[in-house]
Amino acid sequence: MADRILIIEDEEKIARYIELELSHEGYEVAKRGDGCEGLEEAQRGGYDLILLDIMLPGLNGLEVLRRLRKTSGIPVILLTARDAVMDKVSGLDLGADDYITKPFAIEELLARIRLAMRHKEQTKPSDELTAGALSVFPAKREVRYGSDLIELSAKEFDLLHKLVMNKNIVMSRDTLLNEIWGYDYFGETNVVDVYIRHLRSKLDDVYGVTIISTVRSVGYVIKD
Ligand code: CA
Repeated sequence: MADRILIIEDEEKIARYIELELSHEGYEVAKRGDGCEGLEEAQRGGYDLILLDIMLPGLNGLEVLRRLRKTSGIPVILLTARDAVMDKVSGLDLGADDYITKPFAIEELLARIRLAMRHKEQTKPSDELTAGALSVFPAKREVRYGSDLIELSAKEFDLLHKLVMNKNIVMSRDTLLNEIWGYDYFGETNVVDVYIRHLRSKLDDVYGVTIISTVRSVGYVIKD
């Protein structure tokens, strides 16, 4: 399957030029000309890399990056203006993988894209837990079903991570409660069941499959 690249760039001529060149190289390309729409599209998932302009209408590129990094570790290459040193520094601090200064030679952009993607491939094995189509990336606190990014709260993520880490092993409610909410948790005792319901509403119900199985009067298990 072709790698998918999202271009977020408001200068139509530049966006169109990059799109043509990348398509020619065999990439699947989508583009958005507005920061808000770009962020929305990026969060929808399914992309392998994002080319992100900084000066954008709606939401500037650095803010798009900052919000995106809360849920996604996707490679991002910033498209920056020649003299925007602070933008580059802020961008890298915010988690951009690389930047390229406009105007650039397309060969340089292609090389940087390959490099960013190769780096992602190399960091994959140690950083990915899977159960069926479900992938958990603990370092990025990211969960995917297939290529879809699943948005979870912190506790939902912790619970799912624990279940996937112990896949095929039945986890009792007590174990999950102690390990995720702590021994000193004095809230509702059915909190585990409540969060399992949240997870199912975002996974099992959406995809019409059983990801989290209930083991009656014991607890829960995710089977591979
Ligand atoms: Ca711009």
